[in-house]
Amino acid sequence: MPMNPISLASGASYFRSPAPATAAAIAGLKEGNTTYGPTEGTPALRQAICDFYNNGGLHVKPEQVLVTPGSKQALFNLFTTLLCQGDEVVVPTPAWFGFQELMKYSKGMVVPLETKLSEGYALKPEALRKTLNDRSRILLLTNPGNPTGRIYTQSELEALLEVTNDFPNLYILSDEIYDRVAYDGPFTSLLSCKGAKEERSILINGFSKSFAMSGWRLGYMLGPEEIISKCVDFQGSTLAGVSVFLQKAALAALEQEPEVLPPMLEVLAQNRRVMQQGLDAIPEVKYYLPDGAYYFFPVFSFYLNRRTPSGDTLTTSVDLCRYLLERYHLELAPGDKFGAPGHARLSFAIETPKLQEALQRLKQALELLIVDC
Ligand code: PMP
Repeated sequence: MPMNPISLASGASYFRSPAPATAAAIAGLKEGNTTYGPTEGTPALRQAICDFYNNGGLHVKPEQVLVTPGSKQALFNLFTTLLCQGDEVVVPTPAWFGFQELMKYSKGMVVPLETKLSEGYALKPEALRKTLNDRSRILLLTNPGNPTGRIYTQSELEALLEVTNDFPNLYILSDEIYDRVAYDGPFTSLLSCKGAKEERSILINGFSKSFAMSGWRLGYMLGPEEIISKCVDFQGSTLAGVSVFLQKAALAALEQEPEVLPPMLEVLAQNRRVMQQGLDAIPEVKYYLPDGAYYFFPVFSFYLNRRTPSGDTLTTSVDLCRYLLERYHLELAPGDKFGAPGHARLSFAIETPKLQEALQRLKQALELLIVDC
């Protein structure tokens, strides 16, 4: 029987978007919310975004929020308006490949700062200090991490802020798009940390991941008013505002958050266990147990430089992923894209039975490589 293709490579979860969001969008369309809206976002959504942070003890204002068509656009707004020729953006790796792709269209350059699986992908303050210099303009943290699933604790963030506060030209950009997807403990936003300076801290967030709304293109940035106003100007000149009926959907998602998020998180927590068990059943696969987001990022080096039953040699994780796709109809995202050769990213945000089947196939495929060596 032919195998059904299974993909663990997507950045989107399989969940349907929250019903209240869909209902609000339809109602908005029926009410005729189809003309240009304010570039910066509707007052109601900007306020609701502030309420989320202020309920956690912050004091942010709607003027500090720009609603964007996806958080990618928030990053692009920022890179375009903030970076001058040669400015450095320090990115701890492994990191989401989108940062590098976006940087191609800006004047800045990515400076990778490697973190290691053997150290639990910790970003060490000393390593950060050695990397920062006068050209460093942004430190870009992804918290929870994609692809590692690593969550920086509050004390880790505060130790990093002690370093960054010695560099007055540096902005700390925290991409928190997976903030609600945390398994073992509370997630702390950069802005809640001691030492986070309001005039130097910028959050990127959106509805694609936590709310399973990737196709809606809904994101936002929250930062100092001066930066936000430059980004409003840039977005106004290029894309303008997010459609008002979509913003109504985002507002409904936020308002119904306590009802809509727990069921998704419960499935993800269960799938995380399934994937952990599946990977543990394969010899010599090492990984970091993700604290958040919905990926494992194992290292498959043990299985490289071996021959497949048909005689091909798999040298890189790209080769390995190609082998899995061609022979087992199983798609993974190669680690090379994330600055981590030898690894691959596996999403567990798919239906549990499919996930179990995928892990079986992976085990079978890798075991054949051992036999053949
Ligand atoms: N940041 C990170 C870390 C991501 O993983 C992604 C999507 N893969 C994005 C930003 C972009 O998300 P969106 O544009 O859909 O909001």
